[in-house]
Order: sequence, then structure tokens, then C-alpha cells
Amino acid sequence: MLKNIPKVDKILNWPEIKAACSVYPRPLVITAIRSVLASLRSEIIGRTITPASLDGSALLGRVIAELQSASAPSLKRVVNGTGVVLHTNLGRSLLSETIRDRLLETAFGYSNLEFDLEKGERGSRYSHVEPLLCRLTGAEAALVVNNNAAAVLLALSTLAKGKEVLVSRGELVEIGGSFRIPDIMRQSGAILKEVGTTNRTHPADYLEGVSTDTGMLLKVHTSNYAVVGFTAQVMVEELVKIGRDRAIPVMADLGSGNLIDLSLFGITGEPTIREFVDAGIDLITFSGDKLLGGPQAGILVGRKKYLDLLKKNPLLRALRIDKLTLVALEETLRLYLDERQALANIPTLKMLTYDVAALYSRGKTMLRRMRKALPTAIVISLKDGFSQAGGGTLPLVELPTKLLSVAVTGISPDEMEKRMRNFKVPVLGRIRQDAYLLDLRTVLDQDIPVIIAALLTLKLPIQ
Ligand SMILES: *Cc1c(COP(=O)(O)O)cnc(C)c1O
Repeated sequence: MLKNIPKVDKILNWPEIKAACSVYPRPLVITAIRSVLASLRSEIIGRTITPASLDGSALLGRVIAELQSASAPSLKRVVNGTGVVLHTNLGRSLLSETIRDRLLETAFGYSNLEFDLEKGERGSRYSHVEPLLCRLTGAEAALVVNNNAAAVLLALSTLAKGKEVLVSRGELVEIGGSFRIPDIMRQSGAILKEVGTTNRTHPADYLEGVSTDTGMLLKVHTSNYAVVGFTAQVMVEELVKIGRDRAIPVMADLGSGNLIDLSLFGITGEPTIREFVDAGIDLITFSGDKLLGGPQAGILVGRKKYLDLLKKNPLLRALRIDKLTLVALEETLRLYLDERQALANIPTLKMLTYDVAALYSRGKTMLRRMRKALPTAIVISLKDGFSQAGGGTLPLVELPTKLLSVAVTGISPDEMEKRMRNFKVPVLGRIRQDAYLLDLRTVLDQDIPVIIAALLTLKLPIQ
């Protein structure tokens, strides 16, 4: 059988393969043929093969399948039915549709990215968002980088290299995906000095910790966890006073950071960036793609004297923001100039503030449409549940939601989850109490036909 395996050159002369070479790059075709032949060889040696696998059409089928999978896009659209609005693994925030044209214009044309049109000379890419950020937060100055992890690194490296940074023991956060305060601190050259205990930290702890070696007082938003029970935190104002009295910069890594007051929507305990600025924090860092609902970015706002130092750090060049991100951020921030515009257009804010009654009526319309399209063997219904904000934000907030529950006799929820996930546009749901569920909060209108098409494949025999 080994001797009967056709040679690569011979296969390349098959008419179907010649045709494939006009669709796919030739090197890719050759790689696919080699890979199929290699598998064949090991199947023959392992005696896991039938002679029929060696016939031309079977071989051809395998090569074409290999080619298709090798040339399919790797990063692709999925349906988020998990109900986790800021799902870090699914790309966190979706951008507002209103900024689509500006994004395309910047992508496909030249721009004044680093050109001062008034003076006719080199300008700064940061100038496009700094005034907006100052206006929205009340800060003196602002800077943007690639993400919030980069913002924290830049600030620590500029202001506290070789010096001690005081952080409460209860705030030594690890964000999923290996962002850990102690690690980032080490990387920046700053020296972490823990103060207080896990559940209680008092002003006296900071006072005891400060010395001539102190380069910064850092407050870190606990983001994805909460310490509850017998707890004490140092008030921002007290921290500011301790820093001010000793001329030590006080920084807050807010993680998510919101520009508007979310308590209007029942999301409490999240002060706005402006409140931290007003409290006198010298430097504040937060993400562009968490509660803000913009692109991946790290935003720094605060006192001009510190931001001027950050702007001179050569590290900034390595962490700089890309022009597409920048235009997406500029336009997202522009929406915040009118809160109503922000709430009406930014998907993250819309999803977080969805009213459960609105979800219910949307769900009913969806059910009607689906029942028409699907065989009765696929049983769908609406259930109550809770969604999460995600993205390491608001860990204690449970948002009441409506779930589409799907059941098919003979297919277990696990099997269903797997098959929906492997659909050509992957559909990601969750399993609770032995039911397969899609959370309507994060399902977009354009996802509905995809879900129907994916469900229709469930009745097909497993391949
Ligand atoms: C999310 C988060 C980060 C990291 O932000 P990215 O934008 O993901 O880099 C840093 N610190 C805190 C407290 C966070 O919540």
C-alpha cells in the first residue's frame, strides 16, 4: 500500500488540483497534499486504513478539505450567547455602528495622525483625544496607549522605577490573562511594598509604609473580586492627603473605569473617573474596551506634570496606540459628550442597561420567528436567568435576563453545545441545569438567522 501512494508531482497534475491552484496559493496546495500523504502513510503503518482511502477521489476529497480548513480565516465572527457582555475571550466591547465610516476612512486613506495641519509640521497622535478626555473627566492632561496593562506599566516605569510603591494587600489583583499587579510592578522596575492586610487597610498602614524610598501610592480597583465582611479601605481622599503632604504621586488603576454614572441603571458602587479626578488622584488609568465600550486601549488622565514625564518615556513608543484604535476611541469619546448619545449607541452600555421587559418582548418575537423556521422536534422556550458584565468588572452585579432554552430529544446539552460551537459561524451558549441556553442580552439582531441555521443542522446525523 505504501508503494501505491501517488507522488506529489503526479497529484499536482490532476485536473481538479490544477483547478485548486487557481483558487488557492500553489505553496498551500503542495503543503496540503504533503500533509494528506503523510497522514496516509502513518495510517497505513498503523494499519488503521482501508484500501479505498487510496483511491483518487478519496484522496482528492481530503486534500480539498485540508485546503479549505488551512485557508479559512482564523479570527472570525462568533455569536455571543453567553450573556457575558464584556467577554475578554470574545473581544470585549463592540464598537458603535455610528463610527463605522470614520473607521473605514482612516483605514483606507491617509490622515493627519502625527501632522499638525495648522503649523504644517510634525504633530502628536495623542492630540486627537487629549482635549476630549480632559473635557469628559475634568483632568488637566491625558494620554492613551495600547491597553490598560501598558498604561500601568508606563506610569510605574516613569514615576517609580527603583522606588517603592505602596499597595494595599487587599488590592493585589490578578486579572485573567496573566495581568498581575506584583508582576507588572517587577517588570517596571518599581518595588512593591504591601501595606495593611487582605481585608483591612487603614491610613496608618500607609503612613507607616512611606519613607524617602517611596515613589508612589497606588490604589488598584479590585475589578473581578470583592472582599466582603469585616473590611476597611482607605478613602481616596485620605490617600490623596498622605501623598500630597509628602509630595508622592497617588495613582489609581481603575481597570474598567466609567465615564457616566451607572447607578441610574441599578449598577452601584462604581464611581466615575471624574469623581476620582475631583478627589485629587494624580494619575488614573483605565481600559478603553471595558465599561467605556470603545476599542482596546489604555487611558491615562491626571496631572499635567506627571503626564508630561510619561510622554517623554521612550517606553511610550513601544506601547503606542494604532491609528484605527485611535479613531475608534476618538469617536467613542465624542459620543460621551452627550450621555444620551452614548447610552443609545454604544453596544456595551446598551447591553448592560437592557431592561428585562425589553429583552422579554424581543425574546417573544424571536421565538415566533424561530418556531416558524424550525422543526417541532427542536423545542425552544424562554427562561429567566442572570447575565454578567464580565471583563473583570462588576463581579457582584447580576443582571436579570431572558434566556432562549433549546432542547432536542436524543441530543444532550453537551453535544448540542459542541455542535453549535462548531457551526461555520460558531454559536456560543451555556449549559445550566441540563439545558442549553442562549442569553438574549448579548445576542445581536444579525445573529438570529445564524442561530436558526445552526439549530437546523442539529437534526442532521452526527458526522
Ligand atoms: C482589566 C484591568 C487591567 C488590564 O486592562 P487591559 O485593558 O485588559 O490591559 C488592569 N488593571 C485592572 C484593575 C483591571 O481591571
